[in-house]
Amino acid sequence: MIKDILLDILAIPSPSGNEQLLTKKFADFVAPMVDRVTVDTIGNVIAYRKGNGSGKRVMIVAHADEVAMMVTYIDDNGFVHFQEVGAVDTNILPEQIVEIHHVGKTVAGVIGKKPLHLQEKSEYAKDWATEELWIDLGVKSKAEAEKLVEVGDYITYKTQPFFLQSNNIVSKSLDDKSGLAVMMEVAQCLKDESVDDDIYFVASVQEELGARGAQVAAQSIKPDIAIAVDTTHAVDYPSVSPERIGDISLGKGVVVTKGPNIDLSLAQQLTKIARESDINFQLQAISHQTGSDINPIQLVEAGVKTALLSIPLRYMHSPNEVACLEDMMSAGELLKKFCMSSH
Ligand SMILES: [Zn+2]
Repeated sequence: MIKDILLDILAIPSPSGNEQLLTKKFADFVAPMVDRVTVDTIGNVIAYRKGNGSGKRVMIVAHADEVAMMVTYIDDNGFVHFQEVGAVDTNILPEQIVEIHHVGKTVAGVIGKKPLHLQEKSEYAKDWATEELWIDLGVKSKAEAEKLVEVGDYITYKTQPFFLQSNNIVSKSLDDKSGLAVMMEVAQCLKDESVDDDIYFVASVQEELGARGAQVAAQSIKPDIAIAVDTTHAVDYPSVSPERIGDISLGKGVVVTKGPNIDLSLAQQLTKIARESDINFQLQAISHQTGSDINPIQLVEAGVKTALLSIPLRYMHSPNEVACLEDMMSAGELLKKFCMSSH
């Protein structure tokens, strides 16, 4: 079940550039369902499943990495300074609980900032840059801190998933562990099904730094078709509106994207399957390159037919993203049916 797979992988930190714990989990999970699992130089895990005949290569990709932070400097009092890895809204960082990953161990810390009482009036509404924040480990000295962490260690939010009403789950890194869970469930469902195409399930790395892993994976796979499963912004809460990016809501189904980064016939096949199978879906137009793995994949070799399935998400890249399990299930249904159809 998607819920079980998702909860399992949400517990595994996977900062961009150091995704091994999660990609190993993915490799172990899919190994019994495919013919071959490989890890490439940059760290992508590629699970290959031979088809029954068409010889077409279909790449399904979900990114394993999550936005994070990295230790840059430890000051004389043992406070840890850091930079963000990927698009992190630094204004939400103060007072967050984080964990620093150091050679197989983790140490907890809290991101500090001076409280309102001690701020100058001019600071009340200011933006906080990472240089003005620090991580407090509770240590007494630089020497003590250096026994626990070092420059270059990754930092992730320390949160536990939980559920709101209506099957809405709260967690960090639902972008893109919700997409990864969908892909893993599809690999599991297809295990005993007859599929014509050769399918490559790819857990990609470094998507948050510009889809760097997916580009490398596509260069070696040379797919005919590539579909990414990722998240997209829902706009069903105060202060955002559909005029800008479309009317996307939690709980209304998987999002099928159209636009120049998408092959139109693939998008049409996906919506046709969804309509015929009564799968809830929403349409989104992205009138430029998407911020997903299919952006570089579309341009690999002589070009690749690409499509994007997205899970609607509130509060993207925060420690408390919100997504709906039912949208993941409709994404899984649609992707499974697509893999079993002929293209
Ligand atoms: Zn993503």
